[in-house]
Amino acid sequence: MDLSVIIPIYNEEENIPALYERLRGVLDSMSLGSYEFVFVNDGSADRSLSLIRELAARDPRVRYADFSRNFGHQIAVSAGLDLSAGAAIVIIDADLQDPPELIPALYTKLREGYEVVYAKRRSRQGESAAKKFTAKLFYRLLARITNISIPVDTGDFRVVSRKVVDALRRMPEQNKFIRGQISWIGYRQTYVEYDRAERAGGETGYTYRKMLRLALDGITGFSDVPLKAASISGFVVSGIAFLVMLYTLYERFVTRNYQPGWASLMISILFLGGVQLIAVGIIGEYIARLLANVRQRPLYIISDTNVTDAPTLPRPVGLPTGTAL
Ligand code: UDP
Ligand code: MG
Repeated sequence: MDLSVIIPIYNEEENIPALYERLRGVLDSMSLGSYEFVFVNDGSADRSLSLIRELAARDPRVRYADFSRNFGHQIAVSAGLDLSAGAAIVIIDADLQDPPELIPALYTKLREGYEVVYAKRRSRQGESAAKKFTAKLFYRLLARITNISIPVDTGDFRVVSRKVVDALRRMPEQNKFIRGQISWIGYRQTYVEYDRAERAGGETGYTYRKMLRLALDGITGFSDVPLKAASISGFVVSGIAFLVMLYTLYERFVTRNYQPGWASLMISILFLGGVQLIAVGIIGEYIARLLANVRQRPLYIISDTNVTDAPTLPRPVGLPTGTAL
């Protein structure tokens, strides 16, 4: 198998037919020995699953797994990585925001001797100013506070080699931030630039809540800076509080020139309370993720799949028993 194309699907009934046609056209033109589609249905509530099953019935290169519920985009991609068999693997969104026509360029670069070729967004169309702004801010903040270099303005649209997939599958974290993990893995990486199109049909499955979670997973997964900032600000604030205390004692007992001081009291209590809550919250974010990993739950549950020969390493939960791994 030369190439696997992983497509996470969450309510994409409007896009699946066009996506399949465009992908097939591109992949057929690439003179590959063989390739496969790996659709991961992430608990869609629409007709996505039956569309995928129809494709699988017509085309044996279509492989799919159906999750027992919505587990989230990063986990759907992780499942796709577990199930794919290709020597090279493409990760692509189903909504045609990532143009399939870019795949040959990515693949050619990979064959030049890279292990990762990611697609970097030169521009983004049809997305709200708020989304573009928060995304820009997030990528830059992340680049500053992590010690690995996670490329800015890059999603998960990329082609990676089997080596990278095997490394990814050895990373056991529950809170996945795949683009960060791939940067962490290293090897020779490069990029190709493209203009990100609008969503072809349907609506985004990434609510602000899901985006915030992804951002926090990226930060907590790859940076200790927030924890350190919490403790440093604690020291700074208590240092200031100590100086103010000395000053208060001086005013009270030496100059005896003291005021009732309600305002300063309120301000210092509110400020200290705020700083403490922020610090506790930051610690809580890390502890929650620690807990998720200690629990060691499976990352996802598959309720149906036509993949019977997934590669080695731990058996994905839900694969029919007795399948050769
Ligand atoms: N997606 C998913 N699970 C989710 C949300 C999204 O598998 O909970 C898939 C979705 O079907 C698409 C990709 O992830 O293939 C990117 O999602 P979307 O286009 O909604 O995100 P956006 O481009 O708006 O950031
Ligand atoms: Mg999209």
